[in-house]
Amino acid sequence: MIFAMKSLIIVFLFLTLNFRVWAFEIRLSTTVPTQGDTLAVEVKGVERGSKYSCWFNAREYPVYPIEGGSLRALIGLPYNFVPGRYAVLIAEKGRGRKKRKKYELLTVNRKVFPVSYITFTAEKRKLIASPLNKRERDLISTALKIEKKKQHWEGKFILPVQGKIVGKYGVKRIAGKEFLWSHKGVDLKVPQGTPVQAANSGEVILAEEGFYLHGKTVTIDHGQGITTIYLHLKSINVRKGNKVTKGQIIGRVGETGLATGPHLHWGLYVHGVPVDPLPWVEREY
Ligand SMILES: [Zn+2]
Repeated sequence: MIFAMKSLIIVFLFLTLNFRVWAFEIRLSTTVPTQGDTLAVEVKGVERGSKYSCWFNAREYPVYPIEGGSLRALIGLPYNFVPGRYAVLIAEKGRGRKKRKKYELLTVNRKVFPVSYITFTAEKRKLIASPLNKRERDLISTALKIEKKKQHWEGKFILPVQGKIVGKYGVKRIAGKEFLWSHKGVDLKVPQGTPVQAANSGEVILAEEGFYLHGKTVTIDHGQGITTIYLHLKSINVRKGNKVTKGQIIGRVGETGLATGPHLHWGLYVHGVPVDPLPWVEREY
């Protein structure tokens, strides 16, 4: 009888401990993302007072609260991300007990990014090599790395203008025989002066009239490490610090800076990493 009781207690303890070890669950938005995708890592069944951290490819990613009481980490997989098998690890640290770790495996697939040839006037080519270029890039990259806990975006993102995509994300831009760069956003072709809408709600972090290379530029912080950028504008009608709502007009399409005609360059960044913005228009994050 005592023996049976003991066994029962052991089984009970085993089940409880096991349940506690696996108290949280990881859910990936996909286990087969491709270069350019955003990977969402949801942590369900989180315990109050515990701290969670997310690790992927030797980098720690911020974990933020989302609706419904879960936590989530968003991981940007840029065009040059090395394809292969990876693990996402979530570590949980509760008060007065050992860290618990759990991981999920995924495979990042290669995507073929086509080559596109462009020609710039001699004057515009000079701009690429100019030291002004670095200053602009530094200011922009700082603006795109902003991290705030609160999520400002709601639902799907919208295309800032309704135009044909003439430059896809990730295409390799070549001028003459020289590789310039991989395209970090999408180019939407619309007439000069077309109103540009905020792709989602957020706060204006940069509204810059004086950029030589990027032209008139706006960046919006949507919270939780998600930012969008709008380049080559003709005019800007928001200021740094302004709160904007999805669909609000932030400026007009132009061809300022290094542009070969009127169009909107629109980019989306995840913790400062450029990703393909179109999946954000097609699905909700
Ligand atoms: Zn572009």
